[in-house]
Amino acid sequence: MERRQSGGAVTAILANALEEGLIDAVVTVTADPWTQRPQSVVITKTEALITTAGSRYAWWVPTLAALKSAVVTQKRERIAIVGVPCVVSAARMMQTSDHDLLRPFGRAIRLIVGLFCTETFDYELLINDKIVRELAIEPWQIAKLDVRGGKLIIETTDHAVREIPLDALDDCVRRGCHACGGDLTAVDADISAGSMGSPDNETTLIIRTPAGVGFVDHAAETGRLVPEEDACSLEGILSLSQKKSKRIH
Ligand SMILES: Cc1cc2nc3c(=O)[nH]c(=O)nc-3n(C[C@H](O)[C@H](O)[C@H](O)COP(=O)(O)OP(=O)(O)OC[C@H]3O[C@@H](n4cnc5c(N)ncnc54)[C@H](O)[C@@H]3O)c2cc1C
Ligand code: SF4
Repeated sequence: MERRQSGGAVTAILANALEEGLIDAVVTVTADPWTQRPQSVVITKTEALITTAGSRYAWWVPTLAALKSAVVTQKRERIAIVGVPCVVSAARMMQTSDHDLLRPFGRAIRLIVGLFCTETFDYELLINDKIVRELAIEPWQIAKLDVRGGKLIIETTDHAVREIPLDALDDCVRRGCHACGGDLTAVDADISAGSMGSPDNETTLIIRTPAGVGFVDHAAETGRLVPEEDACSLEGILSLSQKKSKRIH
């Protein structure tokens, strides 16, 4: 799976769930490959999940708008949502609320997948100001963006790699993220996923609920997911979680 961000575990779990009929839609974030502008979408086909895998760091879109489209317009009843921790907390609150207007959404949410998140970037400031103007890379030349080892790594379609230290991107971080502390790993999710703690090209999964166990076990049984239990290192995750929580204390 070429487009995956780390180990492709998130896509594997979701693709398996769609194919097995455990879910009928995935609410997630993709990006226009020409502009790299992110958008929230409802995906119902495995092929679309695979071609849109990977992380969008210039996140700004209202993920829950796609949830409204899935529930109200498309009448989907078994939905998985993928989101950064703030989105995950909102989705979980909707799922557990007994407010009349939220109950249809709560009933339709079957799985919440959280992505580890330290910060996200403003699209204009990151893509247009830093990458297009300063590095002279057009958005459609970006094959992959990754945050690793304190750097933003930009892989281009001609297989060149450029790096920007995260310190140099401080001005591009979305303002709200500067005040976001305490939740690096999406504690309200059924399954949380990140790259830190695992070797390159593997995903760290934290399985938090019985629903999370069910979806992971199903994907492992069908061979879509190849788990290695307790293979990840918690040290780096704990230390970064503590660092993030200090932002608000
Ligand atoms: C903004 C952001 C910041 C992150 N920061 C960290 C970090 O500091 N440390 C760390 O270890 N990991 C971080 N991650 C998670 C990491 O980049 C991978 O998403 C994770 O390791 C899962 O990899 P995978 O190969 O299993 O996912 P894939 O199989 O590639 O699947 C990723 C899924 O996430 C969806 N998606 C992509 N971007 C978004 C988004 N912005 N919002 C909602 N859904 C999205 C895709 O549509 C796809 O379904 C971050 C991710 C994002 C989006
Ligand atoms: S840093 Fe916090 S507010 Fe910003 S996207 Fe991540 S979880 Fe949301």
